[in-house]
Amino acid sequence: MLNIVIFGAPGSGKGTQSERIVEKYGINHISTGDVLRAEIKNGTELGKTAKGYIDQGQLIPDSLMIDILASVFDSFKDSKGVIFDGFPRTIAQAEALKVMLRERGQEVSVMLDLEVPEDELMVRLIKRGKDSGRADDNEETIKKRLNVYHSQTAPLIDWYKAEGQYRHIKGLGTMEDIFADICKEIDAVAGK
Ligand code: ATP
Repeated sequence: MLNIVIFGAPGSGKGTQSERIVEKYGINHISTGDVLRAEIKNGTELGKTAKGYIDQGQLIPDSLMIDILASVFDSFKDSKGVIFDGFPRTIAQAEALKVMLRERGQEVSVMLDLEVPEDELMVRLIKRGKDSGRADDNEETIKKRLNVYHSQTAPLIDWYKAEGQYRHIKGLGTMEDIFADICKEIDAVAGK
């Protein structure tokens, strides 16, 4: 199985590139942000809890996130692979993902880090907030999310380097160029 972690700061383009990867490689997409937004929309207890954190630009607690991830992962039977988009976001989540996959006889195939300069991230997220009305895409919450990214999520770069799974992708340029770079890395691990 192809288990791809797509990684990057908020606004780095993980969601957009994930959709293309899913289409080309025929794998399943797990976007933890999408899962949480669906729960909020449906007014579930989990959605209510999640909303409090998301609106503050904070992360949902690890234990809760890890349970959600495992149940979504197990809902894909006979899958060719999965792209993890928005997970892991902390070292504890990365360790839990490693254990979860190992228990199922699998591992992360590759971690793709979409790197985008900070001023570009701000521009993209503010534009997305205006277009989509996503409540956490306002200037104040974006700044908090970027701080959370630097303090809690960016340490995963060294963690995945140590695992030998890290690949850097330049996240600036046309969507096609970025996608081509991503495909090169995936094809290298998929042995195609
Ligand atoms: P992108 O712009 O690249 O799609 P994003 O960071 O803007 O990414 P989402 O990935 O959709 O947006 O996440 C939105 C919010 O959902 C986060 O700010 C966080 O509060 C919550 N969240 C999503 N995934 C996790 C996770 N793995 N752990 C904790 N909280 C999470």
